[in-house]
Amino acid sequence: MKSGTLEKLGLRSRLDFVLHLPHRYEDETVLTPVHAAPPGQPALIQARLQRVAVVFRGKRQLIVNAEGPLILRFFHFHQGQVAAFKRAIENGQLVRAFGEARLGEMVHPRYRFVAGDEPLPETLTPVYAATAGVGQGTLRPKVLEALDAGPLEDTVPPELRRRYSLPGFEESVKLLHRPPPGIDAASLIGHTHPAWRRVKFDELLAQQLSMRFAYRTRRRRRAQALRAGPLLNSFLRKLPFKLTAAQERALNEVVNDLTEAHPMQRLLQGDVGSGKTIIAAIACLAAVDSGAQAAVMAPTEILSEQHYRKFSEWLAPLRVRIAWLHGGLSAAEKKRVRAEIASGEAQIVIGTHALVQKGVGFDRLALAVVDEQHRFGVQQRLTLRKKGDDTAPHQLMMSATPIPRTLSMTYFADLDVSVIDQMPPGRQPVKTRLFSAGKRAEVLTRIRAACAEGQQTYWVCPVIEESKEGVQTAVETYERLKNELTGLKVGLLHGRLRPEEKAAVMEEFIAGSVQLLVCTTVIEVGVDVPNASLMVIESAERFGLAQLHQLRGRIGRGSRESVCILLYGEALAETARERLKVIYENTDGFIIAQRDLEQRGPGEYLGERQSGDPLLRFADVQRDTDLVGMAIAAAEEMIEHHPAAARAHVERWLGSRKDLTQA
Ligand code: ADP
Ligand code: MG
Repeated sequence: MKSGTLEKLGLRSRLDFVLHLPHRYEDETVLTPVHAAPPGQPALIQARLQRVAVVFRGKRQLIVNAEGPLILRFFHFHQGQVAAFKRAIENGQLVRAFGEARLGEMVHPRYRFVAGDEPLPETLTPVYAATAGVGQGTLRPKVLEALDAGPLEDTVPPELRRRYSLPGFEESVKLLHRPPPGIDAASLIGHTHPAWRRVKFDELLAQQLSMRFAYRTRRRRRAQALRAGPLLNSFLRKLPFKLTAAQERALNEVVNDLTEAHPMQRLLQGDVGSGKTIIAAIACLAAVDSGAQAAVMAPTEILSEQHYRKFSEWLAPLRVRIAWLHGGLSAAEKKRVRAEIASGEAQIVIGTHALVQKGVGFDRLALAVVDEQHRFGVQQRLTLRKKGDDTAPHQLMMSATPIPRTLSMTYFADLDVSVIDQMPPGRQPVKTRLFSAGKRAEVLTRIRAACAEGQQTYWVCPVIEESKEGVQTAVETYERLKNELTGLKVGLLHGRLRPEEKAAVMEEFIAGSVQLLVCTTVIEVGVDVPNASLMVIESAERFGLAQLHQLRGRIGRGSRESVCILLYGEALAETARERLKVIYENTDGFIIAQRDLEQRGPGEYLGERQSGDPLLRFADVQRDTDLVGMAIAAAEEMIEHHPAAARAHVERWLGSRKDLTQA
């Protein structure tokens, strides 16, 4: 067998094998007489062989007769197998077959030949996750060999094990690979046995420790200390609006971090519309005041354009030089903008995440703002670190997707977090309505009425990916609505338009000349048009909860009451109905995020953090909350009092994967 096949299973080091834990077991510790074999359950049956024959009964098959009487039947077999049976009969050997016996017959059992007195195994037989090309027969001896290859050090100090009533590491993994007969099998399969708890605890502990190490490593790196100066102060004196108390608090936390000489890594969390952009703008002013540059990155061009507008409106009067690097620029313009960035002439640079990719060199980048952080993977965060030359830039990550507590305690434990948990005054909560597709005419009437009053409407088409078919849906819907709503100015926006086309449509919508904007989820994040007060989401059941919440956050930004209509297909499955109910009944992004997490798992929130090797193989942060709490407390104590053990523990669990946690 090639080692490449084992690597596909993630098996390289001794510990990889040791931690390749069985997902079920077979009990071969007792022999069952043929007539006593329980129906529907596998059993181990031993019998003296009598005859072997290849026969044709509708199908070619191998039939083996043994005492009992017992018949073994094989439809897939090879000549070597037939010969082996013949030899075993000549040698007077017995067969030990494991499988389900029905009316004295076993089909394709697992079997081997034994002399009569060979002892039975004393422990249950582990069954491992296998892959094409690696069967149990190859995998099992390798795993057990690794398990027995010498003592396995316990990286958790005895006092902590006692405090949390955890069994030893070696003892635990040995039990999981070779459980004694009679053990409560359900506790093994359900991962509730103390040995399983120990393994899951160790995994969570490794995660907590590596996050803390990452945090400390960052604290040791240098960054330029950024201080408020004349620009920041004069902007604060004539803000376009009074900051909410929550904004004030977040702003103070950010500005404080920036005055330190090591890089900030702060996540600014706030529901859609809570006003994160102005905090970013003020933070950028601290960089400009300190003679450095700031970069603001958004996940889409549309959003970067909107940032560019906002920043220009707010900061151009202060003579701050803002550059916008975007796809609509000609080659010559791009070159010029890049030159301005490289010379430091551009003080604030706005763009998409393309900014951190190759080719854009800054003069003195001291602050990177990453908007809608949940869209940005770890790789981008790693690239960013290299941009600031010998010093790393401060990083401000903004996210409107509230990160459920269980996740922020685990996957995001290396970040500092500020929360804006308050909306600017005068916001009216968005009313949500559920309409079946059959009531489309009624929805059109509502659109006409809203537009007649000078309001604007979004019509969101069900495209999760910007796929070809998805765009097709949007185009068709656009054509249809244009016919149905004659007299209204209808626009179309989707991810496949050229940047200048997108910008033009968006401009018309912002200016109010487009009344109904048919779009895909490109408007999901950040887009801010206060005059839009009606949103129709078509086939709403096809969207994720957090996504629906994001979309809905695009309206309710003006002083008028806003309505979000969720149109659903006629045949709505029960689970889909449940999901839409969550959106209908809740306006709090945190509650919605929690429910989304329960329904769809953490992938949505983790971006590339989750791709490839998931950081957690055994523990489930939702189910194992008590272990998460224990791991957090233990990690703190180990770093303080047992640093060597802490290092050894991380090394054991993460090995080569460590860098992913240190973005
Ligand atoms: P998000 O947090 O979703 O990025 P934005 O920063 O886009 O929200 O803010 C939403 C809107 O609210 C913007 O038009 C912004 O100018 C406005 N805004 C932000 N803070 C306040 C405030 N304290 N008072 C009034 N309006 C505000
Ligand atoms: Mg925003």
